[in-house]
Amino acid sequence: MKRPILYHPDPRLKKSCPPVQEITDDLRSLADDMLATMYDAPGVGLAAPQVGVLHRLVVLDCVKEEGEAPRPLVMFNPEITASSDALNTYEEGCLSLPEQFADVTRPAEVEVRWLDADGKEHREGMDGLWATCVQHEIDHLDGKLFIDHLKPLRRQMITRKMVKFKRELARG
Ligand SMILES: [Zn+2]
Repeated sequence: MKRPILYHPDPRLKKSCPPVQEITDDLRSLADDMLATMYDAPGVGLAAPQVGVLHRLVVLDCVKEEGEAPRPLVMFNPEITASSDALNTYEEGCLSLPEQFADVTRPAEVEVRWLDADGKEHREGMDGLWATCVQHEIDHLDGKLFIDHLKPLRRQMITRKMVKFKRELARG
């Protein structure tokens, strides 16, 4: 089931989320809802606070090639355990900031540790879009958006556009 996505600015997108203590059926069904919401948008990643749930949970699927099998990942308590010195710049966007894009520079490769929906631990090295995406999503769990990586003026400009966008949405 799809869930509504929160748009910046929203206080819930600025919160640091506590770790998940126990992976319950409710949280598993939340993860399913988040995947459905992400694919529908469409997007390559979604973090629980973006649907208003303050838990350390993200979903992602960065497979972009036409005809390639999807690879939905559900990550509880994801952590970056190592980052490369080499950097990569991608034009990022975010489902909580529709139609806003900006170049963000991050480590090009990261090692990530997480628990899957069955509580099994995974460790994996990621690069390319996967590395960018997983860092972007984990940022959300710490109340950080991609615009927080930009210079203040650029960030304020995007925030002003979003305030206007939300006002127009509310007017209908
Ligand atoms: Zn995002």
